[in-house]
Amino acid sequence: MSDPPRSPKEARRLERLKHGSRAARDVRPRPSAPRRVQRPQPVLGSVAASTSDEPAVVLSKRAVDRLAEGHVWIYRSDVAAPSRLGGGEVVRLTDERGWFAGKAFYGSTSQIAVRMLTREDEPIDEEFFARRLAQAIALREIVRPDPARRGAARLVHGEADLLPGLIVDRYTDCLTLQTLIEATDARRNLFADLLQRLLAPRAIVERNDVRVRAHEGLEQRKGMLRGADPGPVEFLEGEVKLVADLLAGQKTGAFLDQAENRLEAGRYARGRALDCFTYGGAFALQLARRAAQVIAVDVSEQAAAQGREAAARNGAHNVEFKVANAFDLLRAESEAGERYDTIVLDPPAFAKTKASIDAALRGYKEINLRAFHLLSPGGVLVTNSCSFHVDEAMFEHTVLQAASDAGRSVQVIERRGAAKDHPTLLGVPETRYLKCLILRAL
Ligand code: SAH
Repeated sequence: MSDPPRSPKEARRLERLKHGSRAARDVRPRPSAPRRVQRPQPVLGSVAASTSDEPAVVLSKRAVDRLAEGHVWIYRSDVAAPSRLGGGEVVRLTDERGWFAGKAFYGSTSQIAVRMLTREDEPIDEEFFARRLAQAIALREIVRPDPARRGAARLVHGEADLLPGLIVDRYTDCLTLQTLIEATDARRNLFADLLQRLLAPRAIVERNDVRVRAHEGLEQRKGMLRGADPGPVEFLEGEVKLVADLLAGQKTGAFLDQAENRLEAGRYARGRALDCFTYGGAFALQLARRAAQVIAVDVSEQAAAQGREAAARNGAHNVEFKVANAFDLLRAESEAGERYDTIVLDPPAFAKTKASIDAALRGYKEINLRAFHLLSPGGVLVTNSCSFHVDEAMFEHTVLQAASDAGRSVQVIERRGAAKDHPTLLGVPETRYLKCLILRAL
């Protein structure tokens, strides 16, 4: 029982409380004010001192908007950087008023001056990169949970894994590393150490013999970063045994972005099959599991030799490798009235620059037109383009023109992209380059 009020004043106060007067309501806790978003302090001018040691690079309004739209590249014309920067540094990005906008790799040579690392104000140290690598590896474990199917995979896909300019591929117990920009090139030993710590590979091969490095003023280089030359490494793609020569092969040994499309193409294969631009026969060998006969074509003698070796390794006696220009072969076959039930077209990027788009489209039209002439009724065409400058709409339009010129009605069975271990970053169209259409000609 509560004590009786000790004074008339206290009695009146209790009365008010009971009846919920305004005074009493005011006693209740107020809903807390909405939490203010904590923005790191501005670092420029007189507003506040820098909160970290990194040099500050100021972005134009256009650049800030671009980052807000999800992009991670900023061009040189949109930044003001201190003249002392040599390239390869981690920099602190601010808007024109000095507000923090992220941290990024700075490049001194390429037109892409800034590649975003993080939108948070966090230290960019060894642990940061270790976390980013672990995050990238975790995605591959999600998309391919069966360890037996993890023979070869792209572990780090550059910008799309928020590790700009860094590519890491795994071939069973070996890794290949590409450091495509000044900042990752300068840190390649750090990445090799971290990968060694995370994955304990038998060897790490450096495949920095790629032309894009020229934009960054970086030389061509390949060799061993850790361990000894592993020689050809055998791995499984579905049921097919493939071999990658990590030091000598094209790309980092295999075209891993097509792995899932090859497995899918294999599901549709039947009858007589044709694989154009076959390289080491990776599509052809998937087709050979269901098709009666496969003809695999590449202009490179070395590629065909590798393909023959792979066919023998798989006991695939129904694959014939031909060294030929696929354009010529497709024309000759169609003029001879040949028929195929399954065709794969996987050419190299015809449009390497914007200026070459028209020529590229003519190339795509030509090979697809021939393929539609060659396809039997109900035949399946798996047609690909890895030209970033030719987007999905352009590619599909070109394929439609080819179908229409060939007088064929065509069903789209699947619209596909690169394998899931080559993610794309929303807001960065440059990470979405591979188009794969699985079509059925009626
Ligand atoms: N389909 C392959 C990758 C193909 S890469 C795979 O899944 O692994 C493109 C290939 O096309 C290269 O091997 C290159 O030698 C070959 N090539 C380039 N131009 C060619 C042409 N005009 N005719 C035939 N092959 C060509």
